Amino acid sequence: MPTEPTLLRYMTRFRCIAERCEDTCCSGLKVPVSEPQWARMRAAVAGSPEESERLHQCITPNPGGASAEHAFLQMRPDGHCPLLDTERLCSLQRRHGDAVLPDICATFPRVVTRWGERLEVSGTLACPEVARLCLLEEDALEPVFTPVESSNVPRPETARHIPVDVEDAYAFHAETVREALLRLLHRREYPLASRLAMLGHLAHGLDGFYFRGTEAFRGEARAAAEAQLSEVLQRFESPDVLEAVHRDFTGLALPGGPCVGLFSSVLRARMAAGRGERFSTLARGVLESLGFQEGTPGDLDAAWRTYAERWRQLEALHDARVHQYFDNHAAHSLWRNPFIDAPSLLAYVFGLALRVGLLRLALVGHPRVAELCQAPSPTAESREQLDRAAVETFQLVAKHVEQAPDFLALAEGLVGPGRGAEALGKVLVFATF
Ligand code: SF4
Repeated sequence: MPTEPTLLRYMTRFRCIAERCEDTCCSGLKVPVSEPQWARMRAAVAGSPEESERLHQCITPNPGGASAEHAFLQMRPDGHCPLLDTERLCSLQRRHGDAVLPDICATFPRVVTRWGERLEVSGTLACPEVARLCLLEEDALEPVFTPVESSNVPRPETARHIPVDVEDAYAFHAETVREALLRLLHRREYPLASRLAMLGHLAHGLDGFYFRGTEAFRGEARAAAEAQLSEVLQRFESPDVLEAVHRDFTGLALPGGPCVGLFSSVLRARMAAGRGERFSTLARGVLESLGFQEGTPGDLDAAWRTYAERWRQLEALHDARVHQYFDNHAAHSLWRNPFIDAPSLLAYVFGLALRVGLLRLALVGHPRVAELCQAPSPTAESREQLDRAAVETFQLVAKHVEQAPDFLALAEGLVGPGRGAEALGKVLVFATF
């Protein structure tokens, strides 16, 4: 395994587009400020009573909070940071440089993880430029082993550290398991839905002995458990096994109405949480285009039929392009969100299938995509419009839904203990969507 730092190729291409950006990094987010950062910020503005007063006005102390979350930057009612200037750039950064910024502002949109001693750099699709680079380039997800420049990894000391400790078998074997998951995702001769089913079956194969807190690798049992791990991973390299999963999975016919109902309530709940104008406009447009009237539960089966028909049209017109968005997103998720954050691999795969389903509904419901689906044939212009709609959809969902505590709690509640045949069944339900 290489020991050099790993960057995903899209992050080697990333440059902030600043005033040309359709969003701002911090809009709608909660920005924690640690005690030492707050001291640095105060010192930087001390020479200007006006600036100092402005800074104090937008800081809210976090009573009883840990030192890392000593206070928060209080966003304006429109969701934007009060420290933005008239050109929507950070006035603090402009006057005093990066060193004075809170960690989250200095590192966004980079996501840096230290696996043992090795750094890995991905990005968050909550940044529109990252979303563009990640979704629209075929080679975006290639790992690049390279010396990391400081511009790529600001504040490496704040990277999330995952100790790769032999006593913690779940983390210790995580990179090997992730490589196997990525290999499955690259089997593009199968539809993504079948590949999600394969991930689910692989996770189910590991479920009895490989999960957070497992004791199966302790002491003398280690060698047998490692052999079993390796046997399951090998099994999912076999073309016969993959073909069998694909065949059985494509024979499943499940009603999509309940999934449409769930995803539409997620969008409504996030709108109600006041997620800003861009997200609300998208969510409202998606719901309306699928036939939901405001304030009514809507006809779920009719919305499902609209969704299914539109998805068929979209694939007929822009097959390869649409699949690239979702393939890149799924691979990006495996890099960006380490599966060991979930209590089991099955719970993680369930979360992935759930997010893919939500994104499919949001993309197909995007009003511009609905129009594009009526076109008799694809054109360069329609592909460009589709790209724009996809970037907008994936970015806004990443920013306002995917990491939201209530969405994460919903996913956790739906998958329950995240183990066994029941959890596998739930993966398959959402993968068919
Ligand atoms: S969201 Fe991304 S591109 Fe936009 S201003 Fe922030 S870092 Fe730059």
